[in-house]
Amino acid sequence: MFDKILIANRGEIALRVIRACREMGIQSVAVHSTADADAMHVRMADESVCIGPPAGTQSYLNMASIIAACEVTGAQAIHPGYGFLSENANFVQIIEDHGLTFIGPTAEHIRIMGDKITAKDTMIKLGVPCVPGSDGGVPDLATAKKLGEEMGYPVIIKATAGGGGKGMKVAETAEDMEKAFMTARAEGKANFGNDEVYIEKYLTTPRHIEIQVFGDGKGNAVHLGERDCSLQRRHQKVFEEAPGPCITPEERARIGKICADAMADINYIGAGTIEFLYENGEFYFIEMNTRLQVEHPVTESIFGVDLVREQIRVAEGLPMSFTQDDLEINGHSIEVRINAEKLPNFTPCPGKISQYHAPGGLGVRMDSALYDGYSIPPYYDSLIGKLIVHGRDRPEALARLARALGEIIIDGIDTSLPLFSALLAEDDILSGNYNIHWLEKWLEANMAEG
Ligand code: ADP
Repeated sequence: MFDKILIANRGEIALRVIRACREMGIQSVAVHSTADADAMHVRMADESVCIGPPAGTQSYLNMASIIAACEVTGAQAIHPGYGFLSENANFVQIIEDHGLTFIGPTAEHIRIMGDKITAKDTMIKLGVPCVPGSDGGVPDLATAKKLGEEMGYPVIIKATAGGGGKGMKVAETAEDMEKAFMTARAEGKANFGNDEVYIEKYLTTPRHIEIQVFGDGKGNAVHLGERDCSLQRRHQKVFEEAPGPCITPEERARIGKICADAMADINYIGAGTIEFLYENGEFYFIEMNTRLQVEHPVTESIFGVDLVREQIRVAEGLPMSFTQDDLEINGHSIEVRINAEKLPNFTPCPGKISQYHAPGGLGVRMDSALYDGYSIPPYYDSLIGKLIVHGRDRPEALARLARALGEIIIDGIDTSLPLFSALLAEDDILSGNYNIHWLEKWLEANMAEG
């Protein structure tokens, strides 16, 4: 059993892990940059260690400092949260070489799924349905053009190492191919040091449906249904819900079983998310994230489980605390991502919080590291909070979201909150009738960028 866990992250996700540790009687160690000395995760953890200057590359991505912090404090395991080092196979290897435990999947699984071509290949072999596309990497423009003709436009060119919406370009017609191919390659190279790209059929009206999976590393795996994360801006999620408004129990059972069986097959350990595009009743795999997702609370709400607790349990070698048969959906949950951003351009807007009041009451969960007087540093991601609501059904969850949005106070900076109140006035949102392009179109019509 672990006595002490170090959290290699900051912000709301660090708090999330500290909370799970505390409930399990495990001591927690926060690490922080000099810019985060006054951050809530530092205040809330049992111990803290400064690991470097503000820049992420010198602090939260600084593996040597993080390992040293473990050794100084006697922490036996590291929880990576999401982002930063959470999907870095080398980090996992180094942790293990130091006799410590990484709370997450194996380096091998992270490596396989971190390369989108290898991931797709693996999923095809495991019987998971994928988006039709090139057989592996596409070496040059001539091959790309040939494939475009064969597959039929539109197509999407994707960097195999891509992530966070970077390294993806759509070619609507043959004329667009050269620019799209070159840009995807250049973005892959610039952002991820890898210019290999592949091509997929571009689906025109899909929803983004992702399946939460969980394995014990010993051949047992379950699924915890789906999340619909179709409301995206620039391929980034802003509003997520579970269950998906358009998914039937039969579809959930079918795709869920395919995913759980695939994870059992490879002895997957810990939390993972298998992402699909869903169109005309078919699921098409796009990528797998080998970590806890930002939007995991909506799944926790409807299943009544603590996914971080389960991550820690399986990392300790214990079984999951539930089987597939124990997992039953209860009601509906929605999460909105609150970013320190100024509308309508979504410009990052760090600064000092003059007043903060979290919404509360039945079915409301606010995961945030904000407090009165806190200064949001300009160096990191603009996510400052997640408002998660749970109701007996979707209309109740929506009503609760509207109510909670009315209660929340974040003064001193601009946030993305007004977007959500505006969305709740839209019939399509109320009826769940949206796909991955809905939000971009709506923003164009309603929030013309200045
Ligand atoms: P990233 O790793 O950058 O998040 P993903 O492969 O997960 O990239 O794709 C992110 C989003 O891009 C998807 O949720 C979807 O909106 C869009 N997308 C990706 N692949 C396709 C495709 N083949 N057709 C249409 N949209 C796509």
